[in-house]
Amino acid sequence: MEFILKNYSCSLCSNEETKLLLTKQGFSIVKCSYCGFVYVNPRVENMQLASIYKHSYFKNMGYGYVGYEQEKRLRIKNFERWLKDAGTYVPVTNPLFSLDVGCAAGYCMELMNTKGWTAKGLELDEEMCEYLQLSGYDISKSSIEDFESENLYSVITLFDVIEHIPDIDKVFSKLNDLLTKDGVIIMVTPDHNSFQRKLLGKRWFQYKPIEHIHYFDRNSLKAFADRNGLQVIYQNNCGQYADIQFLVNRLSYYHFNFLAKLLKTVFRILKLKDKYVYTDTGSLFVVLKKK
Ligand SMILES: [Zn+2]
Repeated sequence: MEFILKNYSCSLCSNEETKLLLTKQGFSIVKCSYCGFVYVNPRVENMQLASIYKHSYFKNMGYGYVGYEQEKRLRIKNFERWLKDAGTYVPVTNPLFSLDVGCAAGYCMELMNTKGWTAKGLELDEEMCEYLQLSGYDISKSSIEDFESENLYSVITLFDVIEHIPDIDKVFSKLNDLLTKDGVIIMVTPDHNSFQRKLLGKRWFQYKPIEHIHYFDRNSLKAFADRNGLQVIYQNNCGQYADIQFLVNRLSYYHFNFLAKLLKTVFRILKLKDKYVYTDTGSLFVVLKKK
């Protein structure tokens, strides 16, 4: 695919002066000279970016998720864990309407429905939407920016979504509009200030400059929330569940091939093939409320 690139100013402070942090896959990842926010510039132009998500994003085409559905078991464990971690902040109300932004294969909606919530999902991928509609899910083929709703939501989730979005302020302000008075927004996003990013540098798995266009940390996320009428009520480091195949894939990605082979052997000897562990992958977990 031929990418159309465009220059954008800093989403956090609107300035255009930047310092080059690194280049990856031919893209420059830069740091704003004024506020320090990290983003890709120039990047895939907004219209083309939206079209990437519309068509088979979840199939492996050099971007997107590799084997999203194959990793179903682990993904469900992640969503379970994240909803549980935010559990004490979720308002007690019945019925409880929830919204999962970028719901992919619907695993998180499935969990929400199991909790007795009434879940709705937003997804851009056309095939995924059709599949979910046929499976009986309440789904809109829409971005969060364009989503119109009569309903307000007590829980809104954006798991690994916000780093993909071009207009962050528009999204935060929309989330505020869609949230009930005591509702919560739960987010997971790569943390640019994480130990993993500092350790792995340019090789950090989350540097995916085609689709991860903004790189948050605790301060920048708080700043966007603040100026859109939201407040951070809880934040923590966050990771995900990994099984042996996940760990081997990740180690191979980082070219730790010897370690990958060793791990595979250890797991086989100890018969741990179907076991999984929670690993800190350098993400940030945030719960937000209205101010
Ligand atoms: Zn800036």
